[in-house]
Amino acid sequence: MHELSVVRALLTQLEPYAHRKLTRVRIEVGNLSCVDGERLQFCFDMVKQNAGLSGAELIIDTVPARVECRACGRHFAPSGPGDACRCGSYDYILTSGRQLLLTEIGFE
Ligand SMILES: [Zn+2]
Repeated sequence: MHELSVVRALLTQLEPYAHRKLTRVRIEVGNLSCVDGERLQFCFDMVKQNAGLSGAELIIDTVPARVECRACGRHFAPSGPGDACRCGSYDYILTSGRQLLLTEIGFE
């Protein structure tokens, strides 16, 4: 399961804070990252007891894909694949949407 390996990577990132009591872990997930938020939540809840994080709540912020048009330089969020820029160009690069970031950790 892909989400379980994401949770394992997340736990590795949290290891330096293992001596503190974590209450909140916030991550940012791009909607093109192929990570299912519900499954991620499930995997986190499954492993958090053993990882000493029983009091921690996982908050997932899903971030839409953003692109930059190569023709006019405009930044926008396409509503779907094959969505053209306002200038009519289909030539754009992905600037955001595949990320998996640990953005916030809360302590008691
Ligand atoms: Zn454009």
